[in-house]
Amino acid sequence: MAWLCARTVLQTCRRPISYSLTCAQKNFADPLDHATGVDKKEMLAKLAGNDDPYNLTIKRRAHSTKETPNVVYSSFESRIIGCICDEDAMHVNWMWLHQGAPRRCECGHWFKLVEKAPL
Ligand SMILES: [Zn+2]
Repeated sequence: MAWLCARTVLQTCRRPISYSLTCAQKNFADPLDHATGVDKKEMLAKLAGNDDPYNLTIKRRAHSTKETPNVVYSSFESRIIGCICDEDAMHVNWMWLHQGAPRRCECGHWFKLVEKAPL
């Protein structure tokens, strides 16, 4: 979206009339000023240093046991996770995690869903 706006402005500035002076002096509004709802909360989280507010990045598994499982955060009671069980695996082993007891993947790693406050 931001790229499209900049492109539009550049095309407008190429016109050989006085628009070019006007365009060069205008400042664009901060997208944060126009954002609302979840978009604004996500932008504020990223400004605060949280680059992954929804915990969507790929995490490396640590050595895990039933007592020390890999922690998976969610604002909901359940979440689907994918485990790449073997380094050379050609598929992802998807499974549901529910709040409560940890769950063991077929490869032996343990995962536990931990509640996280929503944005
Ligand atoms: Zn696995």
